[in-house]
Order: sequence, then C-alpha cells, then structure tokens
Amino acid sequence: TTLVDDLKARLRDVPDFPKPGIVFKDITPVLADPRLFGRVVNAMSAPFRGQHISKVVGVEARGFLLGAPLALALGAGFVPARKPGKLPYRSVVERYSLEYGADGLEMHEDALAPGERVLVVDDVLATGGTAEAAARLVKRLGGELVGFSFLIHLGFLDGGRRLAPTPVTSLLTF
Ligand code: IMP
Repeated sequence: TTLVDDLKARLRDVPDFPKPGIVFKDITPVLADPRLFGRVVNAMSAPFRGQHISKVVGVEARGFLLGAPLALALGAGFVPARKPGKLPYRSVVERYSLEYGADGLEMHEDALAPGERVLVVDDVLATGGTAEAAARLVKRLGGELVGFSFLIHLGFLDGGRRLAPTPVTSLLTF
C-alpha cells in the first residue's frame, strides 16, 4: 500500500474541533504507529536531503513532533518556534492575524546564525498565516529559508500561494 493510502486510513477527522464548523485533522493515530511515523519522517525529509539544511524550525506544538525527527534525519539542528511567553531566553516575536483575533510566534534571538539554511515544519498548512510568521522570524534572524514541509496541505484554503515563491511540500493534499 502507498504512504498516501495508509495516511488516509489512519488520520482521524474530528468534526467541530476546536470550534463548530471546523473538521480537525488529528494526526495522533499516525504518530502512534511506529512504522507509519517512520515512513512519514522519511518522506517529509526526502525532498530536502542534500540541500544542506542546518536547522529545522518546528512550529508549536505538532511541528515539534515532526520537526525534531526530521532534523535528525537531515543531520540538522532543531529550533522551536513557540507561542508568545513560553521561551526562557531573549526572543523575537512575529504577530499574525487569525479569522477571529491574533496570535504570535517567537524564536530565541540567537536560534540561527546568519546564512543558516532553514526548513520550516508543521503538521498542517491551512491559511498559511502561521507558517508565514515562522518564515518572517527565520528571515529576521538572518536565516536562508529553503522550504516548508507539511504532513497535510488543506489546498482549498490557498495557504501555498501565501508562502510562494519558497518551495512548499506536503505528503497529502485535501
Ligand atoms: P494556518 O495558520 O491557518 O495555516 O493554520 C495552521 C496551524 O493551525 C498549524 O499550526 C496547524 O497545526 C493548525 N491546524 C489548522 N488546522 C488543523 C487541523 O485540521 N489539524 C491540525 N492542526 C491544524
């Protein structure tokens, strides 16, 4: 069976989470299966092998779960991009707007050295606002953004266009 088929069989759709009308893609059944989890990490890292990625930035919280093993698979370090107020050391923040309200992402100010080649990782690309904020942080710290890697791309929300021209890869598009 193909990875796409196995993923479709294991991802769980949860209606009305976290709000009425939203169908949430729950990746926990994928993480719980060690063979499938391994194939996911392998497939998400494959397009970036040989591209001299030195840091993987994972977006809180599910981007940590995928980003950390991806970093090891690519021989890169891992950097967390966190919700405001969570990081212990001096940080830089980028705010972004949501459908209702606003949010932000922070990275430690010394998380990247200038010129480091960076891959941004998260579980789901929806509107692209979160990934775009992560990209702004990478650029502010002098990193070279090589690409984005997602497990799932909700294509109908047009997030890919927002992240262009940086390459966007995903294992599954809905
Ligand atoms: P965006 O900023 O609209 O692209 O939303 C992406 C962020 O929301 C990511 O950090 C995702 O983890 C999260 N997200 C949005 N929809 C889902 C979903 O269906 N399942 C899991 N996470 C989601």
